[in-house]
Amino acid sequence: MIVVMEPRATDEDVQRVLSRIEELGLKAHRSQGVERTIIGVIGDDRIVKREQLALLPHVESVIPILKPYKLASREFRSRDSVVDVGGVRVGGKEVVVMAGPCSVENEEQLMRVATAVRAAGVRLMRGGAYKPRTSPYSFQGLGEDGLKLLAKARKETGLRIVTEVMESCDVETVAGYADLIQVGARNMHNTKLLRSLAKVQKPVLLKRNFAATLNEFLMSAEYLLSGGNEHVILCERGIRTFVDYTRNTLDLNIVPAVKQLSHLPIIVDPSHGTGRHELVIPMSRAAIAAGADGLLVEVHPNPAEAYSDGEQALTPALFRQLMKEIRPIATAVGRVVA
Ligand code: PEP
Ligand code: MN
Repeated sequence: MIVVMEPRATDEDVQRVLSRIEELGLKAHRSQGVERTIIGVIGDDRIVKREQLALLPHVESVIPILKPYKLASREFRSRDSVVDVGGVRVGGKEVVVMAGPCSVENEEQLMRVATAVRAAGVRLMRGGAYKPRTSPYSFQGLGEDGLKLLAKARKETGLRIVTEVMESCDVETVAGYADLIQVGARNMHNTKLLRSLAKVQKPVLLKRNFAATLNEFLMSAEYLLSGGNEHVILCERGIRTFVDYTRNTLDLNIVPAVKQLSHLPIIVDPSHGTGRHELVIPMSRAAIAAGADGLLVEVHPNPAEAYSDGEQALTPALFRQLMKEIRPIATAVGRVVA
């Protein structure tokens, strides 16, 4: 449940509610707005009777939340959350495009992509150093050497870095290099990893698992929020369906649905969502039209030679074309592309 305090409630009134919640064996999460304080009750609040809180002084209302997620809900925060990634704001008016290779392969490849995407207007570069590959025989990523190359690219270009962490034991290392830490689709349900990421002071890009419902997706975000990390960006990257023409089915329905149910920003990954480079530009346009706060796009200087996901990678020329084509769409829906 959520407790909304009256605008005239004093700090003492708020403290009284917080203490009562704790006496009841639950945790409270306080959110201080400009006009009023809102308190989220965390834990199994079915044991609490509404009036136990509603009758305390200067409580305006107590809203039972039937949805299993609380801190991720629009009821908890009505205004859109904006997540700051090294000075780049995700979730505001700007549509933020994050682009780069699927995997960091070597310095030359990474610098070629970095130069190309930066010239096209990008400020956040993706690149995997720890790769969750389907086959154990496939390239698994350069690990920390890859992170070092990403840090070098950031130093030379000013691009912020988004990269994936797969295991709790690597969280500290990855957080030392990344501006935005990615949780891949396969790990969306890894609650231990989410709990470790809740404790770092870096924003998290949470990708939807290919079989996750909207509720499950937001519950994973709730692990991060309730553990103390408010800087969460969601990412739709396609789900498994009977469709085999594309690698996944990009579920653009989820973009406006998330906007209605949650305050968290959501971006779209049309590269993994389609698995086909020729579909990436049209689906990027569609994602922005649907209200996405950004894109995550794979770009490679020579897709035929890529160590991973070459079929869905855009060449730098195609990526420039993407940036050109999304601008008028963003304008049409009241957004801008930097
Ligand atoms: C990726 O972004 O490189 C990746 C592995 O994506 P996903 O976790 O969505 O499959
Ligand atoms: Mn990939």
